[in-house]
Amino acid sequence: LQTLSKVFDTCAVMVVLRVRPFSEKEKKKGEKKCIEIGDLYSISFTGERAKYSKYAFDAVLPPECTQRMTYEASCKPIFDKVMEGFNGCCFAYGQTGSGKTYTMTGVENSIGIIPRVCEDLFSYTERHPEFVLEVVMSYIEIYQEDVRDLLSSQRGQKLQVHEDLSTGGKGVYVEGCASVRVDSYTAVSKLLERGAKRRVVGETKMNEKSSRSHAVLTLHIAKKNATDLEGLTQVISKLHLVDLAGSERADAAGTSGKQLKEGAKINQSLSALGNVIYALTDKSFRGDHVPYRDSKLTRILQASAHSAHRAIHLGQTDTTQGQLFETQALLEASQHMH
Ligand code: ADP
Ligand code: MG
Repeated sequence: LQTLSKVFDTCAVMVVLRVRPFSEKEKKKGEKKCIEIGDLYSISFTGERAKYSKYAFDAVLPPECTQRMTYEASCKPIFDKVMEGFNGCCFAYGQTGSGKTYTMTGVENSIGIIPRVCEDLFSYTERHPEFVLEVVMSYIEIYQEDVRDLLSSQRGQKLQVHEDLSTGGKGVYVEGCASVRVDSYTAVSKLLERGAKRRVVGETKMNEKSSRSHAVLTLHIAKKNATDLEGLTQVISKLHLVDLAGSERADAAGTSGKQLKEGAKINQSLSALGNVIYALTDKSFRGDHVPYRDSKLTRILQASAHSAHRAIHLGQTDTTQGQLFETQALLEASQHMH
């Protein structure tokens, strides 16, 4: 875990692979495993596909890995950065049935990343009584490039993504999106449940839809000094927690990584996400051509990159903002600021 935190200090994107155990059904059918876990950082295919090369990750979590270990290896380092004022994003990518919802939300008696990070967030001031937190949540769904608010009663209304680049402005935001103040995981969980129902209402093929849409939970966090509540000194950050659409849609369209072509796109946001990550992790990347604008998802996750630039340019500002979903250069620059 220490190594992972180190990786996180120098990289804009960290990829953790979680291998889920066989389901009862798969066991009954006598399914054979198709990948071999090499070490803590790599896997290779077995059988026919063994000829393909080894794949490396920042960490590989084997099937016996618990929900707690998964949280600590993936979202916890992001959470720590978020509390320092960086924006962060944690999402689950994979085919339908690979364990995205299990990992992000979890099941009863085996809670996932979202409840765990909420636990850490809402108990933060117990560990740091010198601060007071204000947390506001929003919850949207992106389905075929249409953005809908899962917290609003005006279900079905399509929302627009806008940019406000003025000083102190909102950056990229979803217009008219509901923001609800929350102070506990119970409050968050009620809203998530309500939102999940909104996804279902009027949908005959719920599973079909949830595997094709992205659910984006955003926690807007303002951290203030307990002794200076009206003062200007505060840290503002955002944490996006995303249960992505099933990746089989992107595969089916043959649009992964940098080979994205206009046209044959079943899920534009998923393909664009691949391209953004590619740009952010490309060693030769110089910080100019990240194709955030190619999809709603990448625009929304890009969020306040501009605010981060501004905060860094101003040096000692009253409001520090950061952006983990950003370039390495930006991260380095912001470290000087901190
Ligand atoms: P996805 O959201 O990617 O479509 P799910 O999270 O619904 O997939 O997972 C599919 C099934 O596998 C569910 O029944 C889920 O409870 C189970 N599952 C997934 N990951 C694990 C895991 N690590 N341990 C135990 N069960 C898991
Ligand atoms: Mg799911």
